[in-house]
Parts: sequence; structure tokens; C-alpha cells
Amino acid sequence: MATLTVSAADEKRVKAMGFLSNKGTDNFNARIITVNGKITAEQQRCIAEAAEKFGNGEVAFTTRLTVEVPGVPYEKIEEFQEFIGKAGLTTGGTGSKVRPVVACKGTTCQYGLLDSFGLAREIHERFYVGYRQVQLPHKFKIAVGGCPNNCVKPDLNDLGIIGQRIPNFDEDSCNGCKKCAIEKNCPVGAAKVVDGVLEIDKDVCNNCGRCVGKCPFDAIEDGTYGYKIYIGGRWGKKVAQGRALSKVFTDKEEALSVIEKALLLFREQGKTGERFSQTIDRLGFENVEAQLLSDEILGRKDEILAANLHTKGGATC
Ligand code: SF4
Ligand code: SF4
Ligand code: SF4
Repeated sequence: MATLTVSAADEKRVKAMGFLSNKGTDNFNARIITVNGKITAEQQRCIAEAAEKFGNGEVAFTTRLTVEVPGVPYEKIEEFQEFIGKAGLTTGGTGSKVRPVVACKGTTCQYGLLDSFGLAREIHERFYVGYRQVQLPHKFKIAVGGCPNNCVKPDLNDLGIIGQRIPNFDEDSCNGCKKCAIEKNCPVGAAKVVDGVLEIDKDVCNNCGRCVGKCPFDAIEDGTYGYKIYIGGRWGKKVAQGRALSKVFTDKEEALSVIEKALLLFREQGKTGERFSQTIDRLGFENVEAQLLSDEILGRKDEILAANLHTKGGATC
């Protein structure tokens, strides 16, 4: 076994920079942030070169859409950062903080109802970069999904956003057809003709928008795009399914401000070491939802950010 020379304190220091110890060695996995899971060809070349120059020549993809280069020696860490910095890449993504944002390919997917890459980039700038120095009780994972198919599992993140298209049904145009095209095609059975008119059960409809434009009599000509937000999901040592806020947001800025309010609430009212799902359980979903739908907590933003809280959070990876 090689003699290890990197102290525990230095290991901790570089971990905060996104360099995770390769067990039993003085080498590290350099965790590179992809912003929204999408990198350019030039950045890929840069990562490949960095892997050969500083690492063991391999590149590993993480479940949260970051890229890791294993085998980077401790003394090469700064040089590595400088090298990938030339392609606009950074390392990081650890600690009791906002974690790298993940997104599905909703921007180009046939089912996508929002620009998932663009939205994830905005969230990255505002809450990953913008909140990089903000300590939270535990890690905070955010996912952006383009539609209710949930490929990226937004409801298993501390906060997840799902693209929506709320069908605008014009009852007056509905003829109550014996074979209703909408009833036949709704993937979740939310649409049914009852007493000569189509009814959409709002509790079942997931706003996938697939019925829009499908009625031959133009009873559903368009739909309103929006954002559903889930809070309190997690998947790992413990599992919790996130719960959706009752409101579907149609304004992007309003949806983004809910993320900020959730972070402030978690920092202020979360106990060190607990995940957001536990904070929500302790405070009560209705209480948390009421705070996220009001702007009251934003008025305390400076005070909450300045407070000396969670100096040692619960995140261990
Ligand atoms: S969640 Fe929807 S938009 Fe995203 S990849 Fe899956 S099907 Fe496509
Ligand atoms: S929604 Fe359209 S297809 Fe369905 S019953 Fe009404 S008119 Fe007919
Ligand atoms: S939006 Fe989707 S779930 Fe809702 S009624 Fe239309 S097809 Fe069904």
C-alpha cells in the first residue's frame, strides 16, 4: 500500500473544491460541472486531454450529470482547474449546498413542454453559482423535467420542476361524440364524456398537453404552458416522494422565486443534518407551501444569508 501524504484537513479542503479522494491513494476524482448535462465538443476535447494529462486517462459520468476525471494527483489540482477553466469548465458540486442541477432533454424531446436545458442553466447561474457560498442543513438537489413522463425523476429531488401544458377546453364546442378522440388518447384516463360533454378530471390530468389540437371539433385548440413544482423528494439512504405545490405556475420568474424561497426556508428553518423532506415533515407541508406561495421570506433574505448557520452540514458526499 502506498504511503499517504495528504492530510485529512487537506482532503476535506479539496473535497469542497470538487476533488474526491480515490480511496487508499493520494489521487482524486475531479468532479466537473456540466451546468445542465450538456457540454460542447470543445469542452469534451478539453476533458479528454485533461484526463490524459492529469488523470488515469479515463472519464466517468455520474448519475447527476457531472463528469469525473479519476487519478488526479493532489499536487496537480490547481493546474487541473486552470487547464479546464480555459474551456469554461469548473469543478465543484460537493457539500451541504445546492448541488449541480440535472435536466432531461426536454428542449429537443418530442414530449418536452419547456426548454429544460435553458431553464436548468438559469437555475445553475442563480442558485448553484449564486448560492455557492450558502451553507444549508444538507445537500439540496434540483431537477428539471420537460414533461410529466418524469424521465429525470423531479419528484425524487429536494425540488423538482416539471413542464406543463394545461388544456384549454371549450365546452361550447364539444359535441359529446360517441367516440371521443380525447378520451381515447388521454394517457392517464383523465378525460371522459359524461352526459354528452367531455369532462377532464383535474385530479387525474397531469397537464401533459397531448390532447391539445386533437379534437376534430376544436374543443381543445390550445393549452397554457406552465411549471409544476415538487418539494421534499429524495432518493438514496432514505426515500421520500416529493409532493406538488397546489399551484401550477405560468410565470417563469415566479417559479424561479419559489426555488429561492425554498432555499431560504431550508436554511432558516431546517435543522443541521436534515434533508428538506424532513424539514417539510416537521413543519407541515401546508405551512411550507404557504411560505413558498407568499413573498414574506424574501423580505428576510439578507438576514437569513448573513446568519451563522450550518457550518458543518449533513452532507457526506
Ligand atoms: S421527461 Fe418528457 S421531455 Fe423529458 S425526456 Fe422524458 S419524455 Fe422527454
Ligand atoms: S372533446 Fe371533441 S372529440 Fe371529444 S366529445 Fe367533445 S367534440 Fe367530440
Ligand atoms: S392534458 Fe394530458 S392528462 Fe390532461 S386530459 Fe389532456 S391528455 Fe389527458
